[in-house]
Amino acid sequence: MTLEQTLPICIAGTWRLGGGERYATCYPATGEPVAWLNAASLDDVEAAVQGAHQAFLHSGWAQRKPHERATVLYRIAGLIRERAEELAQLQRQDNGKPIGETRALVASAAGTFQFFAAACETLEETITPSRGDFVSMSVYEPMGVVAAITPWNSPIASEAQKVAPALAGGNAVVIKPAEITPLLALQLARICEEAGLPKGLLSVLPGKGSVLGDALTRHPLVKRVSFTGGTRTGKHIAHIAADKMMPVSLELGGKSPTIVLDDADLDHAVAGVLYGIFSSSGEACIAGSRLFVARPLYEPFMARLTAAAAQLRVGDPADERTQMGPLISAAHRESVERYVALGLAEGGRLRLGGERPAGGVFDQGYFYPPTILEGLGNHQQVCQEEIFGPVLVAMPFDNEEALITQANDSLYALAAGIWSRDYKRAWALGRKLQAGTVWINTYKQFSISTPFGGWRDSGLGREKGRLGILQYMEQKSLYWGMNDQPLAWAGLETGQ
Ligand code: NAD
Repeated sequence: MTLEQTLPICIAGTWRLGGGERYATCYPATGEPVAWLNAASLDDVEAAVQGAHQAFLHSGWAQRKPHERATVLYRIAGLIRERAEELAQLQRQDNGKPIGETRALVASAAGTFQFFAAACETLEETITPSRGDFVSMSVYEPMGVVAAITPWNSPIASEAQKVAPALAGGNAVVIKPAEITPLLALQLARICEEAGLPKGLLSVLPGKGSVLGDALTRHPLVKRVSFTGGTRTGKHIAHIAADKMMPVSLELGGKSPTIVLDDADLDHAVAGVLYGIFSSSGEACIAGSRLFVARPLYEPFMARLTAAAAQLRVGDPADERTQMGPLISAAHRESVERYVALGLAEGGRLRLGGERPAGGVFDQGYFYPPTILEGLGNHQQVCQEEIFGPVLVAMPFDNEEALITQANDSLYALAAGIWSRDYKRAWALGRKLQAGTVWINTYKQFSISTPFGGWRDSGLGREKGRLGILQYMEQKSLYWGMNDQPLAWAGLETGQ
């Protein structure tokens, strides 16, 4: 790939230039273009969906035995592993995450394909207890064309979480990656093709979500949408889905509380809170962005946390030692800055950060330092809205009852963290927190075998887990009559 070239995109089994505007995807650490491509056009959306529909009907993929589909998914996992370094470096350039993180995302994507290959070949259909002269069964069928709409913060891992179970379930997939991070989805399509996925079964449509994602969601041949992104977009998609009576899963935003009880192991808590908010520069749906610390511990804990946060290595994402790279774009950094200014206007104080770093690489990219605000109440806007950057708001709490009320006082309910040496106490608190995931004495750890998703404005439905494949399948019941005689109701005499 050279910079002068315009990258082709994958539409209905062919690689060609998109019909939309030419644009560059840029390296957030320097602002320099990484690649040029043409966005997809609305005609491309139509071609991709029609192609996916035809491939679904005629390629034989849906009819392949589960272990045959699994073979292709295992091959995809293998090819991702073979090209792991190349993919991780490309991802680093596409979205600016430190290389250590992009390697982990690529490894996670390979693991996801492997996991859903295994889930596919071991998925059981059931014979249900019979309540008459029949044998009753419950089986699963593919849905058809699935749209996978993904955000910019964890490409390839986000795409794998949708594409792998959807393909495992026998479907065709059209990916709409975030406009500014299209490169890994395109690479994934190349790998799928090489692994033997039938042509047309997977397309990738880079470009504007409000145009392409919207058209894809509305398309009558799209039978399911799996979306990860912001809550406002998710709600828009949910409305369209309601009109189409189409199932949809929504992985949305968060404003997760992380709680340090007075009996916490402070070494673990400091490390976990830091990782929870500042890894990925806070550009994570599950970022632990609201910190509640037991009042007697507040000052000593904050002193240690602040000192450790000040030592985090912000800088060049290509450097193996870098812990925080740049934010995704200039516009996003400005949005983070506006939130910090708002926190100060709301009466908050800066304990750390709050100013763009300057000099060297910092003058080119969209860097922002670890930032800690305090002196604010949970009801204030910076505590209620998702900032999606390296900004932690810290608050002391006096008793667990008040803590639970505040921790749960959010439109979001994606994740939460608890730091305590007392497992019974943590268990009781964990059960009272409203969140799709609660981490106890750890944070931001993931397993593909554990379902993930949010409550309330953080989303609908679950991804991952062995049964994640069923999100992409329709359930069907079959009854097999075993009567020797015709059904009695008709009152027919038998001929015997
Ligand atoms: P976004 O909602 O702006 O965009 C997400 C995707 O939706 C992109 O591909 C975009 O092009 C597309 N899109 C935009 N408008 C659309 C429309 N009208 N119809 C259909 N598609 C449309 O989100 P973002 O800024 O890319 O990502 C950040 C958000 O994603 C944050 O809120 C973050 O919390 C959330 N997120 C959630 C999870 C999770 O698993 N819960 C994971 C990662 C990110």
